[in-house]
Amino acid sequence: MDDQVLVINCGSSSVKIALFDRNGELRVSALAERIGQQGARLVPEGHDTINLPEGANHRQALTDSIRWLQQQGHLGTAPLAIGHRVVHGGEAFHRAVLLDDDVIRAIEDCASLAPLHNPVNLAGIEATRELFPRVPQVAVFDTAFHQTLPRHAWLYPVPRRFYEDWGVRRYGFHGTSHQYMAEESARRLDRTTDNTSIISAHLGNGCSITAIRDGRSVDTSMGLTPLEGLVMGTRSGDVDPGLFDFLADKGIDPEETNRILNRESGLLGLSGSTSDMRNLLKAANDGDDHCRDAFEVFCFRLARYIGAMMVSLDRLDALVFTGGIGENSAEVRARTVEHLTLAGFRLDADSNRNHGQARNGRVSADDSRFPILVIATREEAMIAREALALASDEHQPTTDPNH
Ligand code: ADP
Repeated sequence: MDDQVLVINCGSSSVKIALFDRNGELRVSALAERIGQQGARLVPEGHDTINLPEGANHRQALTDSIRWLQQQGHLGTAPLAIGHRVVHGGEAFHRAVLLDDDVIRAIEDCASLAPLHNPVNLAGIEATRELFPRVPQVAVFDTAFHQTLPRHAWLYPVPRRFYEDWGVRRYGFHGTSHQYMAEESARRLDRTTDNTSIISAHLGNGCSITAIRDGRSVDTSMGLTPLEGLVMGTRSGDVDPGLFDFLADKGIDPEETNRILNRESGLLGLSGSTSDMRNLLKAANDGDDHCRDAFEVFCFRLARYIGAMMVSLDRLDALVFTGGIGENSAEVRARTVEHLTLAGFRLDADSNRNHGQARNGRVSADDSRFPILVIATREEAMIAREALALASDEHQPTTDPNH
């Protein structure tokens, strides 16, 4: 067996694969995209694109991608461990677990909470279990880190039976990234994770923000689904739920409203042209008013949520920006922090412009009441780490013993 850990992240029409060595260093990664559509293809980092069979499903795409890794000599007969990103672990999983039949059943049970995600995650798991039946496989859940939320933060003020009968509550997502922010900011601040309190803003295509108190998630913006909270690339984030009824009157049924809120809203909805922050900023700077609107609403709502997250903390060691936007957009950080002067946040313009590169990620001014950091997320590396740790621990319980 090789000395490598394979990480698999199945999305609705894509599969990301990454191969790490024992020390957590990335060796190679590839993206299989347009799965189930015309033009399915494998795009390996630093290599030519490879066409996949027309209409390839997740299983085929994954099998072909792994074969490619082997043909190129990146992977030998089998990896040491395999880590799968699983979107929804419901209340059953408080941490990553070794996969077995019971765990797979529990993930299936959570599928009604994430109908677009868990079934494709399971397709990936089944494919690699067939390919590598003897390799330990681990599920790492987006929701697990948020299982420490206090009851007042996860209960929705709706009839109690919604939770009791159907599990309607706040779960939260991007847990792997927020957990990494907690650990990495502690390291940079020369503290221990369990003595570090931060607000972590993960701003990618999906965006969420989490209050982390002494290393534990205590509030987060995403909810029952990843639609709640911040403005995102194509998702609206918070809107008045009365919108569903209002639009039904206009002839738009709830299913269509849900699709529009997930796929045609957020930056795309407001700009009318792009869900991509880089393009949006360029257009806004060239005078496109709709793109300017989208940018302003994005930053204002983000700032409002940063304020809201302070309610759950008794101390703030850092505000942390991550994800493609959080790591790379000085403009988003600057505009957001401008809204937070009353709370005492202040950026250092030069450090912000170069993303804190010269100051170990620090972009705050010296007189800022709280440090502000930029930290690159490493979700796949975290999954590799969890997979390796659990693979070497035969006695790990499959579900949380306290549950
Ligand atoms: P995902 O959530 O799919 O992993 P990423 O974390 O890669 O996405 O974030 C993608 C977002 O980051 C896009 O909106 C993209 O435009 C934005 N982004 C990347 N680089 C920059 C940049 N230099 N300036 C502004 N936004 C950027």
